[in-house]
Amino acid sequence: MKAVVFEEHGGVDALQYKDVAEPKVGPNDVLIKVRAAGCNYNDIWARRGLPGMKVLLPHISGSDAAGEVVEVGSEVSDFKPGDEVMVYPGLSCRTCEFCANGRDTFCRQYKIWGFQTGPLDGAHGEFVRLPAFNVIPKPKGLGWEEAASLPLVLLTAWRMLVGRARIQAGDFVLVWGAAGGLGTMAVQICRTVGARAIAVAGSDEKLEFCRKLGAEHLINRKTQDVAEEVRKITNRRGVDIVFEHVGNATWPQSVASLKWGGTLVICGATSGFEAVTDLRFLWNKQMNLLGSHMGNKTDLLEAMRWVESGQIKPVVSQVFPLREAGRAQTLMEDGEVMGKLVLVPD
Ligand SMILES: [Zn+2]
Repeated sequence: MKAVVFEEHGGVDALQYKDVAEPKVGPNDVLIKVRAAGCNYNDIWARRGLPGMKVLLPHISGSDAAGEVVEVGSEVSDFKPGDEVMVYPGLSCRTCEFCANGRDTFCRQYKIWGFQTGPLDGAHGEFVRLPAFNVIPKPKGLGWEEAASLPLVLLTAWRMLVGRARIQAGDFVLVWGAAGGLGTMAVQICRTVGARAIAVAGSDEKLEFCRKLGAEHLINRKTQDVAEEVRKITNRRGVDIVFEHVGNATWPQSVASLKWGGTLVICGATSGFEAVTDLRFLWNKQMNLLGSHMGNKTDLLEAMRWVESGQIKPVVSQVFPLREAGRAQTLMEDGEVMGKLVLVPD
């Protein structure tokens, strides 16, 4: 089969579009013919190489896929060839105390499929093999590309806001990178629960995009002071929740924007991992600083019900042939993407 592979770390030049062996199913696996696969920043981290994380080489990236079942293992009874499915991208042991009660992300063996796994097993190939546990039905009303754009960002944003920060109607939620993959999910979750999203983005075009998705307030981080605008919008109170995934570049503004007793939830740090917190604010403002990592299968299933009811919509901005994965990654590295980029095998 064709796949996008890198054999060593580097720039987009390291990506090769080439023939690799088709994956073989084990007794509990499902083989899927990929019809569309999502792009995530993790694909770029893996390709560049991350200190402290071993990426097994050669590597096929991609943590989101939608496609048709072509073969199932001898022990699989929930799926059959021809079924239209999508992927839950969290792999775990399935037997520890955490896995047993649905808290997959606490499993010591928890891994993001296509990012921390390998070699040669992410979504950016013509076929993928996954345990049946990681396969869920694709809603009839969703196209392949729409379905493939959802799992990782929907799951992550859902767990951050619903599972961790306990979002409620009326909450002000500051959403960094609101026009991106995670941000567009966060804005829609806010709208759906009746919370008030304050979208932050780097251009007026991106902010207009956020407004259409349901953001109530807009802040252009290039022309406005974010914390100052938050004070105006919230009548000096600060936001109930900050939705963080940028890290170093935004952390001081995030802390300054939080209300007394507010909650800051973070799932990543695309601008850098080091941030300084004046601890006096932590105790005086009685802030809740929460980490969040991916989400459990139950989080995805719950969030998908909102997709099926039309309350959360996939946001696909561009579709590329699989062989052009490098072009998609360059756009993401340049910060030029609104919503999600999706790859489609030839
Ligand atoms: Zn486990």
